[in-house]
Amino acid sequence: MSPTPSPSPEDLSARDQPQAALHARAGAVTRARFGDEVFVRGVVEVSSFCREDCDYCAMRRSNRRLARFRANRRQLEEWLLRHRPAEVTDLNFQAGEDPRVVEEVVLPLLATLRRETDLGLSVGLGTLEAPLYRALRAAGASVYILKFETADPVHYRRLRAPGTLEERLDHLRRLAAQGWFVSSGFIAGLPGETPAGLWRNFELADSLPLCGCSVSPFVPGEDTPLGGAPAGDVERVLNCIAALRLMRPDWIIPAVSALNLPPGANGAEGYRRALRAGANLVTLNLTPPRLRAEYPIYTRHRYIVSETYVRQTLAAEGLRPARRGLVAHLEQHLRRPAAAPPAPAPA
Ligand code: SF4
Repeated sequence: MSPTPSPSPEDLSARDQPQAALHARAGAVTRARFGDEVFVRGVVEVSSFCREDCDYCAMRRSNRRLARFRANRRQLEEWLLRHRPAEVTDLNFQAGEDPRVVEEVVLPLLATLRRETDLGLSVGLGTLEAPLYRALRAAGASVYILKFETADPVHYRRLRAPGTLEERLDHLRRLAAQGWFVSSGFIAGLPGETPAGLWRNFELADSLPLCGCSVSPFVPGEDTPLGGAPAGDVERVLNCIAALRLMRPDWIIPAVSALNLPPGANGAEGYRRALRAGANLVTLNLTPPRLRAEYPIYTRHRYIVSETYVRQTLAAEGLRPARRGLVAHLEQHLRRPAAAPPAPAPA
């Protein structure tokens, strides 16, 4: 088999025939590696409290107009043990940066799910202190999702993303050294982004110890300093997905629900086209419905991916849910250090 051609910065702005060829190449690489199977992960939003203040997110602590919630552990437990769809092989717990919910809700839930199910467990809970990372691993989580958002440290600071970029990358590297499978991600179309800056995200992602990477379109959130900025270009995001796949044929690359939001997304087409352009993971929203409205990452009018939507979309694309879960796949195909490691520096 001939080697996969590397992506180039020009690919990110491809249109028309070159764009179709780019997506077809990335789609073919995905099918050669993963067949017609796509991982299906349920995502559960457990808290909309956040101690950070990112300019691009409505959950930022300065947003006083948001009614915050922390999920009830018992209700979630009942919901996830009894009502999760059969296709879901993995769960991801995500929240704003809220250490309290980690201790009160996520840790006990992980322990229960570890005991009662064979689900693969992921978390995306922001930068935490070393003992909490260790406790999450001990409770059964295997994948940590920590997005770097933008590879430009000056842009990162201007956007008031958490801490500094270097600190975030340090957390990410230390998580990997501790035996986590680490996935990261960036936002395409942020105000102030340059073509060179967008490409720098690829170079950074490629240099990190990752098992996967996401790219999301910038979506201007209500009640944020960037609420009036234009949304990210979905075509460019789809090109980024294809370029990520060509760069790393083995990575887990999600089709993010936000692809169906910005103008130009053409109804539900953005999401389906992501699956043709190299994505191999769909996430299905399992947050209890009454809590969803108060979890506005990055906007309250977001596209909720339901079980029915996932089923129909995969069938329409000639794809099917993976029989083996994401964590099981990573355990088989990626080696990670068994022993643990130096503890992360305090956040
Ligand atoms: S992007 Fe994350 S860390 Fe930043 S304000 Fe939103 S939830 Fe908090």
